[in-house]
Amino acid sequence: MRRRSFLKSTLLSGLAASVLKSKMVDGAVLKESKGKVLVVSSYNGLRATEKAAQMILNGSDALDAVIAGVNIVENDPDDHSVGYGGLPNEEGVVELDSCVMHGPTHNAGAVAALRNIKNPSKVARLVMERTDHVLLVGEGALKFAKAHGFKEEDLLTDEARKIWLYWKEGLSDKDDWFLPPMDQIPEKYKKWIHTTGTITCLGLDLQGNISGVTTTSGLAFKIPGRVGDSPIIGAGLYVDNEVGACGSTGRGEENLKNLSCYQVVEYMRDGLSPEAACKKVLKRVIDHAKLPELKNSRGYPSFNLRLYALNKNGEFGSASIYGPAEFSVFDGKENKRRPSPFFYEWKYLK
Ligand code: ASP
Repeated sequence: MRRRSFLKSTLLSGLAASVLKSKMVDGAVLKESKGKVLVVSSYNGLRATEKAAQMILNGSDALDAVIAGVNIVENDPDDHSVGYGGLPNEEGVVELDSCVMHGPTHNAGAVAALRNIKNPSKVARLVMERTDHVLLVGEGALKFAKAHGFKEEDLLTDEARKIWLYWKEGLSDKDDWFLPPMDQIPEKYKKWIHTTGTITCLGLDLQGNISGVTTTSGLAFKIPGRVGDSPIIGAGLYVDNEVGACGSTGRGEENLKNLSCYQVVEYMRDGLSPEAACKKVLKRVIDHAKLPELKNSRGYPSFNLRLYALNKNGEFGSASIYGPAEFSVFDGKENKRRPSPFFYEWKYLK
């Protein structure tokens, strides 16, 4: 562990210990803690779990905490999978998807194909709290965000534009766009040309309440208007305050056909551990991937999907179709990445 992360992790565990001992934070006496504090996120969510854990330990509701956590990654121009700096659709326009779910009220809100607003998770929350609806898309979602004072901005960073341009130029040798020689394309861009991602973050707070958020720029270079799993309740996220929560990252289309997060929570309701529930649902996703384009030459899935879950008792787990894979967890003591079980090694994806 690097020194900075070690210090942060030590500070967090110190904060955790003092909260749990005195129940007194910032001068406010907290209600008796019903259990342990837990925050679970995807690989790219280590800063999110740290932020959310700090807030929860200071008495925040899990929903406030997980949204503040993912906002860090939404605002980061170097993360090309989420928010500002996210990879655009095939026309070079960034379109964002997000949803939130609040356990104590069993309420949810979402936005899809939202342009020009860098924190879709905040807009999703407002859909939940300030409308009678659950999901707003495209133009309507943008008008709604502007009505609430969000400022439009160009989300396409110079780096994301270059990655998109290389993708476009490399698409076909039968059109008029040419790639520069490969040795002139910086290495750091190459890894993104066919990569995408998402952040999901789930929290269990001092009151024993559970909430979650998922936010993404979706599949890179998608058809404009394409909506993935991330803003769909039951697919990209599901929370049941009496049971637990699940979030996902990876190929949204296969998740949408299986409503994986809902099913993980249902398996946890039946008594499965978070990890066992994630594995069981991914096994079903693999079995359901029958179309030839969803299989590679070995007969293995031609895509990846990852599930992350926590339950009411403070247990957590994750699983991935391909690995090695890791996810981010604050377990009440330490904030760090942990390995996820997986079905196939990365080298077998191609
Ligand atoms: N799940 C996201 C989507 O399909 C993409 C990803 O997580 O890689 O939009």
